[in-house]
Amino acid sequence: MFIDSHAHLYFDSYDDDLSDVIRRAKDDEVKYMINIGIDIETSYQSLQLTKKFDGLFASAGIHPNEALKYDKTASCEIEKLLKEDKIVAVGEIGLDYYRDRAPRDVQIKVFSEQLKIARDNDVPVVIHIREAWEDAEEVIEKAVNWEVKGVFHCYSGDQETAQRLIRKKFLVSFGGYITYNSYKGNEMLDGIPVEKMMIETDSPFLTPMPFRGRRNESSYIKFTAQRLADLKGLSIDDIGRITSFNANRLFGIAPEMEEPKIVYRIRDSLYINPTLRCTSDCVFCSRLTDPVVKGHNLKIKEEPTVDETINAIGDPKQYKEIVFCGYGEPTLRLDFIKDVASKIRGSGIPIRLNTNGHGNLIYSRNITTELKGLIDEVSVSLNTHDAEHYQKIMRTEYGTDSFKAMLDFIKKSNEAGINTVVSIVDIPGLDKEKIGKLAADAGAELRVRRYNEVG
Ligand code: SF4
Ligand SMILES: [Zn+2]
Ligand SMILES: [Zn+2]
Repeated sequence: MFIDSHAHLYFDSYDDDLSDVIRRAKDDEVKYMINIGIDIETSYQSLQLTKKFDGLFASAGIHPNEALKYDKTASCEIEKLLKEDKIVAVGEIGLDYYRDRAPRDVQIKVFSEQLKIARDNDVPVVIHIREAWEDAEEVIEKAVNWEVKGVFHCYSGDQETAQRLIRKKFLVSFGGYITYNSYKGNEMLDGIPVEKMMIETDSPFLTPMPFRGRRNESSYIKFTAQRLADLKGLSIDDIGRITSFNANRLFGIAPEMEEPKIVYRIRDSLYINPTLRCTSDCVFCSRLTDPVVKGHNLKIKEEPTVDETINAIGDPKQYKEIVFCGYGEPTLRLDFIKDVASKIRGSGIPIRLNTNGHGNLIYSRNITTELKGLIDEVSVSLNTHDAEHYQKIMRTEYGTDSFKAMLDFIKKSNEAGINTVVSIVDIPGLDKEKIGKLAADAGAELRVRRYNEVG
């Protein structure tokens, strides 16, 4: 599923075939499209389209190129439009020093005023910035002190700016231009977590390859998604889901995205989410606040039963591997793991357990021998080489002894004949060499994961 978070389907280039354009979008899994107003007239046109077609939403606002149209009447019209259910944002607003169609001081004033309207009405903003990055941040700071959420659409700034905007809880959105050979931002795209991204077409403009030069339309969002998938090492479905999840969090248009998952797919792997309970309380973990992984909400209300899980898995052969891994410690449900694993064992699909390695502490016995024959690989994540630091960041319920016990678990798992891996996240400052030695001493392989990449 995709959400085209920014389109202008009210332009007259769609006059003859808009129904076909929307049908093609739906056929290509673009479930929702948001038409973005550039002035009052087009904001009303966007609203009209939401009444004509399912899955369409709209925004209301004055584009910086149209800033001279902004006056008291316009601001009242925006406020009025915001009362409509299908109007989900103020936009597009911002600064455009590339085209400079309105004096810069007017653009700044109009941008500031509309930011305040969004803040006062508690709706997100869709921001358009071209060659005005410094002023943009200053205006948001001065006008609303960043007390507004939103997206920078067709992002064209640098990586440092993107990181600052993300820290201010903004999203950045990318369009067809990232598919061009001439696009210079690949390194930046690589540095921005996909959890902070949306995708858009900006139709009828910025048509992605291979249709560059023709009119753009929402169904072409797949080319932009594919480009991101290639860059991020994810599947196009992953990109569609994650960016849709993000769009829903911002605009509230796809509540189904928040459905908690007992099993969830990333790339070709299926993950099983047995529990939210854990023996640790890691400082960086969002288990209790917002357990979301790659566009999957893992905040289950109840722990799944074996039958529910087997049903949710379906045919295991659709997957490359099946992994017990949620926002919680799977071995707290040892019997569940054993039952589920034994039921899917026959498929021949590799089964992995991601664990914090506290299993033997939890049960005061060596559970690795019980996993032998059921689990092909045990993966223990380890982000430090030192017991005190481990306790400081993991805050385990077993105190500093847990570090030694966890290393012993790795060793026992290896001795039980299970392929055992120590995984570390590639964050600066980590002593990979020392952790590597600990892993080697315990007989485990060391695997380095990219920061923020699951799977
Ligand atoms: S071990 Fe994993 S699930 Fe448990 S608190 Fe730490 S990061 Fe969260
Ligand atoms: Zn724009
Ligand atoms: Zn636009």
